[in-house]
Amino acid sequence: MRIITSVEELKALRLSSKYRLGFVPTMGALHEGHLSLIRCAQRENEKVLCSIFVNPTQFNNPSDLENYPRKLEEDLVMLEGAGCDFVFTPTASDMYPKGLHSVDYHFGELEKVMEGSFRPGHFKGVATIVHRFFDLIQPHKAYFGEKDFQQLQIIKKLVVDKHLAVEVVACPTQREPSGLAMSSRNERLTKEQRMQAQSLYLAMSDVQSSNFIKKPQELQEELFMHFRGMNNVRPEYIEFVDAESLKSIENWEDAEHVRMCMAVFFGEVRLIDNLLLF
Ligand code: AMP
Repeated sequence: MRIITSVEELKALRLSSKYRLGFVPTMGALHEGHLSLIRCAQRENEKVLCSIFVNPTQFNNPSDLENYPRKLEEDLVMLEGAGCDFVFTPTASDMYPKGLHSVDYHFGELEKVMEGSFRPGHFKGVATIVHRFFDLIQPHKAYFGEKDFQQLQIIKKLVVDKHLAVEVVACPTQREPSGLAMSSRNERLTKEQRMQAQSLYLAMSDVQSSNFIKKPQELQEELFMHFRGMNNVRPEYIEFVDAESLKSIENWEDAEHVRMCMAVFFGEVRLIDNLLLF
């Protein structure tokens, strides 16, 4: 596995002119969810490049950025074990030579709901870094997890709006046996919070296997009460949305496919998850 630490080195290698290249962007503190993206990329490309970069412009909360886990040595061992070909670990000044500013992209309604409304500037930061990576790396395909479903929709729109020559591939959410979606943030959970956090998936799968007699808003209110009843737990949003536009629905008939999306704080740790209901 080759470790590329600077933009100059990356440019000199001009990887995509030599192989069909799959790209997996990450912020490190890798887990099985990230490795599933690497494996998916390996099946569909000749070589795979994974980036590890904790992108400052997508954090709207400075303490979240500060507390974000960083474990480069362990990450490199995992990537080597997974047979990844290239790892790109740039610095912030490599990625933002003109300073830490996001490009003022516009994604319409997609960036206004859910994560967009609770994390101002988040998606502009995500789009800025992903666009910069695409320009530098020129991958044939890029792999993103459905775990961050709204981000996936934003990236797909970025590629269409900017006419980028990369195919975006969505990979399913990897979960622990308890149903908890794997996340770098899980390691900040206490034992009690980890138990509480299992209720995210339980809530979504209960709705998924229900007969949809209750209206979305009724369920939403019940679930807010449910999470508020837990010690030191604070639900931020629980939404039932059209799986394409991400617009909230009032009735189950309002969309062909509905996704349930939620963000809940367990103490200081904010977790998101989502599930396709039908
Ligand atoms: P992150 O390092 O959290 O920015 O995530 C990097 C990529 O891994 C993103 O495309 C995420 O959606 C994806 N990812 C994170 N957790 C999971 C998971 N549990 N299952 C599948 N993909 C994931």
